[in-house]
Amino acid sequence: MKILVTGGAGFIGSAVVRLAVSRGHEVVNVDALTYAACLANVAPVADSGRYAFEHVDIRDRAALDRVFAQHKPDAVMHLAAESHVDRSIDGPGAFIETNVNGTYYMLEAARAYWTAAGRSEGFRFHHISTDEVFGSLGETGKFTEDTPYDPRSPYSASKAASDHLVRAWRETYGLPTVLTNCSNNYGPYHFPEKLVPVVILKAISGQPIPVYGDGGNVRDWLYVEDHADALLLVLEKGAVGRSYNIGGENEARNIDLVRTICATLDELRPAARPYAEQIRFVTDRPGHDRRYAIDPTRICTELGWRPSVTVEEGLQRTVRWYLENESWWRPLLERDGVGERLGVA
Ligand code: NAD
Repeated sequence: MKILVTGGAGFIGSAVVRLAVSRGHEVVNVDALTYAACLANVAPVADSGRYAFEHVDIRDRAALDRVFAQHKPDAVMHLAAESHVDRSIDGPGAFIETNVNGTYYMLEAARAYWTAAGRSEGFRFHHISTDEVFGSLGETGKFTEDTPYDPRSPYSASKAASDHLVRAWRETYGLPTVLTNCSNNYGPYHFPEKLVPVVILKAISGQPIPVYGDGGNVRDWLYVEDHADALLLVLEKGAVGRSYNIGGENEARNIDLVRTICATLDELRPAARPYAEQIRFVTDRPGHDRRYAIDPTRICTELGWRPSVTVEEGLQRTVRWYLENESWWRPLLERDGVGERLGVA
């Protein structure tokens, strides 16, 4: 397939690009290169004849029309988004513009291209979304595909809005869409403002390791390469108009995840004192969702997906990767807002 991937210079998009090219697909990476992007993420495939890069903002409809006409993709995987909840609290506008308006422009550009090309049933518009659209769970229960939407941050509200647009374009115009909602990802190339890399990098630089609130917020962790594998599976085998929840059934309280990372570092790069002694509880994020948990039964039973990596193995790989790739993360610490406490409102 020739796949147009948006946001392919980001964390998850680049994992999709690397995996798709390695499996023989052609990829056109459409990315505006915001503060969160890093072209080094796709360096392993940049010289492949099956890879092309388009420096385009998804809010630029004319540029999107040109990209569709020039590359004639068989499918779209739409990942480009503003993705950091703390930044959405300080500046929600960018989240509305890219995640809502940008998705609208992507849908319209895809629809125009698909219509002009004869409305092929084989075309796919795969929208990549998050479990955060479902809101916050109590002590028990899991999100299924039928859980009502209840977003509570500007980020999750903008993603929920984009999900609704995608469903509307399926129902109203017949565009062949699929939708996925995934839990928290971690792994190599994770931008150093997100929890897992923040913990690793604060720890090894001897700084306080910040944990929001009481550390009791629960997230459901999935290794990014397992997410990329699930996304390609849904693209190839998912039923049109259907949505799939993706998660690794690895629930952990933030404080326990942070302690596991510290213990992994104690093993891989021992310091004079255990890294966990650097943990500090800090002011909580406003509207901080308490618990997310994904029920992945549909993708497992209908499409036969299974994650390949346990959370212990994935965290080992991730910590090792950051220890071995300082030349990747060091320059990113200089980018605007990275390393600062954001989103305290
Ligand atoms: P990221 O912030 O690492 O990367 C986003 C990419 O999109 C960047 O390369 C950026 O340059 C690009 N981008 C942003 N605005 C753009 C615009 N206007 N035009 C073109 N490109 C633009 O994000 P990520 O963590 O890789 O997340 C990718 C997608 O997956 C997002 O849609 C996100 O909502 C979703 N998601 C993320 C997680 C997670 O744990 N990170 C979980 C579930 C779903």
